[in-house]
Amino acid sequence: PSLYALTQEGLAAALVELGQPAWRAGQVWRWLYQALVDDVQAMTDLPLELRRQLAQRYRLHRLHVLARTDSGDSPATKLLFGLDDGQAVETVLMHYGDEADDPPEGEGSGAPESGAGERHTVCLSTQAGCAMGCVFCATGQMGLLRDLDAGECVEQVIWCARELARRGKRLSHVVFMGMGEPLANWEATWATVERLTDPSGLALSPRRLTLSTVGIVPGIDRLAAAGRPVRLAVSLHAPDDELRSRLVGINRSYALDAILGACRRYQAAGGRRITFEYVLIAGVNDSIAQAEALARRLRGIRSHVNLIPLNPTADSELQPPTSQTCLAFRETIVTAGLSCTLRLRRGIDIQAGCGQLRMRAEGRLGRTVSVPRGLVTEFSP
Ligand code: SAH
Ligand code: SF4
Repeated sequence: PSLYALTQEGLAAALVELGQPAWRAGQVWRWLYQALVDDVQAMTDLPLELRRQLAQRYRLHRLHVLARTDSGDSPATKLLFGLDDGQAVETVLMHYGDEADDPPEGEGSGAPESGAGERHTVCLSTQAGCAMGCVFCATGQMGLLRDLDAGECVEQVIWCARELARRGKRLSHVVFMGMGEPLANWEATWATVERLTDPSGLALSPRRLTLSTVGIVPGIDRLAAAGRPVRLAVSLHAPDDELRSRLVGINRSYALDAILGACRRYQAAGGRRITFEYVLIAGVNDSIAQAEALARRLRGIRSHVNLIPLNPTADSELQPPTSQTCLAFRETIVTAGLSCTLRLRRGIDIQAGCGQLRMRAEGRLGRTVSVPRGLVTEFSP
């Protein structure tokens, strides 16, 4: 097992089993989460014998890098990690603000919580594959292979935090937007949130974490009840159930009204502005009438709409709209009074569409995915 699979209590129990006092757990914890060591031998204030025992019984790495792409023109690193059982998941390390996930709120929240400094964001996976059945998503096309456990989620972040530390940088944000549906793997997702925000560990503010969901209603309610200011992003992609059920399989179980009702409850419970993600697909969900309908549906919810031109996947005919269409869609949303950005999920030039690096590594993605320059314009809300 990996030491990152253990909670602090679990670590204390493991140490007691080795004949150590429980307080040593705090010591080891700091090496794991503050010093980010990648070798037990580096835990220099532990007795040599204990280091030997720990090294014999535990690992500090369960993930191994199968593929890595450093983007030519966007400061992002996409990683394909192999897991013990041969599964593979993607993680992206981005060296800029993921502004669409955390735009300035302008709601009396004071200064943007990120401050003016640099942002280093990890986008992590919570499942290998996904059962939610979005037709445009490479991960969805795999189906659900398995849930990740909390240790596997945490290790993705630790790997990136170590990489940042080597460059003299600090991890600032984490978004649960890689492969899989975080709210369909609640236990591991929540254990990961707790681990990342643990004040004696990485100590990230919950406000710097964003869970992105396709709209798992009980999961949104659990998040609302959890009483931590973790941010929420909801992937909508359509303004009506008829279309949404064609694009997003799970919409047949959780329809739009139910999802937006849960969003309202999340905000009533103190939740912040919600980012609504909307993948723009040519001729499918990109008309002015659909933009107007979307804006109407979001009325009464403090929202930010994040438009993402489709990154085409190998097995699909679906294409992104022209830049003109994307701009007109955005303009309509803004005119209706909502905050809205149109942007590339940066890093997409490194085959970074969700699930696409894995497909590529498996030889199932025959061509390099690149989005024509000029398609994407960045806006500040
Ligand atoms: N399952 C969660 C989080 C992972 S997907 C969710 O769906 O929200 C993260 C985001 O990537 C979602 O908004 C999803 O719609 C988007 N996405 C998936 N495939 C895409 C593609 N081919 N092009 C652009 N965005 C895509
Ligand atoms: Fe799953 Fe999200 Fe992909 Fe939909 S977009 S299939 S919910 S990972």
